[in-house]
Amino acid sequence: MAYAICTKCGDTKAKALDGCPACEFLPASSHDKAQAMVATTHNMSEAKLTMVAAALMRGERVELPFEQVLAYMDMFEGRGEQDAPVRLPSKGCAWLVFFWVLVGLAVVALFNS
Ligand SMILES: [Zn+2]
Repeated sequence: MAYAICTKCGDTKAKALDGCPACEFLPASSHDKAQAMVATTHNMSEAKLTMVAAALMRGERVELPFEQVLAYMDMFEGRGEQDAPVRLPSKGCAWLVFFWVLVGLAVVALFNS
């Protein structure tokens, strides 16, 4: 089952951009939202996500995949690919990320309607 974790305290929540039920942290800036989007089962394996959550619960600072956070920040700030036409990683995973962003947004829109 898909879920997200709070990037502040590591608690589990249903949707990345929801307020945290434990610490009430609500991703507001594009950076916070980007980190929240990366810290989900869409972008990480559950095993990895569990490790990140455990580290956050221990109060450790966690580094999320930088490229993914940047990609989401671009999206939240409305910077499309037009600013950087050749920024696609050779792996081609940017399109996969973009796809999941769309899926994520669709799910969010669905749940909020
Ligand atoms: Zn929290």
